[in-house]
Amino acid sequence: MRVFKFGGASVKDANGVKNVLNVLKETGYSNLVVVVSAMGKTTNALEDLVALYLKEGAEFKPLIQDLEHYHKEILETLFEDKKHSVFKRVKKLFKDMQTTLKRNKSTQYDYIYDQIVSFGELISTTIISEYLNHEGLKNEWLDARNFIKTDNTYRDAQVNWETTQKKIQEKDIKNGLSITQGFIGSDDNNFTTTLGREGSDYTAGIFAYCLNADSVSIWKDVPGVLNADPRVFDKTELLSHISYEEAIELAFYGASVIHPKTIQPLQRKEIPLYVKSFLKPMNEGTSVKKGQPLDPHLPCYIVKKNQILVSLSSLDFSFIVEDMVSEIFSLLHQYQIKVDLIQNSAISFSLCLDDKFNHLDELLAKLKIKFKVTYNTGVSLFTIRHFTNEAIKSLETNKDILLKQITRETYQMVSR
Ligand code: ADP
Ligand code: ASP
Ligand code: MG
Repeated sequence: MRVFKFGGASVKDANGVKNVLNVLKETGYSNLVVVVSAMGKTTNALEDLVALYLKEGAEFKPLIQDLEHYHKEILETLFEDKKHSVFKRVKKLFKDMQTTLKRNKSTQYDYIYDQIVSFGELISTTIISEYLNHEGLKNEWLDARNFIKTDNTYRDAQVNWETTQKKIQEKDIKNGLSITQGFIGSDDNNFTTTLGREGSDYTAGIFAYCLNADSVSIWKDVPGVLNADPRVFDKTELLSHISYEEAIELAFYGASVIHPKTIQPLQRKEIPLYVKSFLKPMNEGTSVKKGQPLDPHLPCYIVKKNQILVSLSSLDFSFIVEDMVSEIFSLLHQYQIKVDLIQNSAISFSLCLDDKFNHLDELLAKLKIKFKVTYNTGVSLFTIRHFTNEAIKSLETNKDILLKQITRETYQMVSR
């Protein structure tokens, strides 16, 4: 059994969908679960839709029309027969989305978000499953919400592993080809949940774990995991082999090519992960396995933009001691703010933070009751794994550095 995952970039248009067919033909498609994300930038558009829907007096319908038009164009290129049932199925999904919005009584943003944003994956997998069937690759469309069971932390749902494992094993997915959605699951009341942005890689990891799969391949618009983010650095090299530990570290520091939660379930069962180019499916790409040393052994550069650097100092010059630190962390937990880096001295405490859920103002208000607070928004966190002096020197050139930290294998720096 193998698990594949195709992300938004790989299915952003009709050619992308046709390319999925090519990849499957080249690499084989028996005993395969294929996890697919929403097409292109659909998730961003659906996020905008939810924001508009909740804004008094705002007109959100044009956004739905744009999205329907985008998907219809893809469908019309893929299917010559305009009477093919896929047109109706997709139309119905758009209708269901509008009905959900119309009937909704909740004002809870995160809940509404999950009920609506999940349509991106439901629509993309419907199109792809139908297209593959049409092209002779008979497959079963699976609703991931019947398998991935989670708690009700909407937008950041935590997987209930026991139930998920049971549901997936009960289904007895074998032999054939199955197509399912990344990113989405459902809670005990069968409301739709999502696993966090970019969470489709994680879905592939969950299915692989529960199926005791032989491997997971995630198909990307890059040749594999590179030693630097190609959007930021000019010179990058492909990492052929990395260990699970290395992959977790890279993903944790912000190498967005792999979702950080993906590795852990794979590592637990020693299921290899391949990161490969969807344009060159027969190329090796990157393999992530147990204990294999980083090859080639190069400094790896990671950038996390749009972070926040907060510095706290005590109001009365007293030390920032354990009880205060514990209070700070419980607030961070409460507001779902992730800590990238910490540095402290006797009377000051600095944190580089990632505020994915936009709760910074609430956090700052609470902190200001007890501390003198200074902060910078929009800072970048740079990390070099396996740094060399030369690598640090070239990175620091022309940067306004606010904070630096070096441990044995990892150099980190926050700059404006
Ligand atoms: P998906 O289509 O699966 O969602 P993503 O866009 O999330 O794919 O991930 C692929 C992108 O990750 C690449 O296009 C690249 O810009 C970016 N990226 C960031 N860091 C790295 C890295 N170290 N190696 C490869 N790609 C990286
Ligand atoms: N469609 C979701 C997103 O864009 C999940 C994913 O692509 O992994 O975040
Ligand atoms: Mg993505």
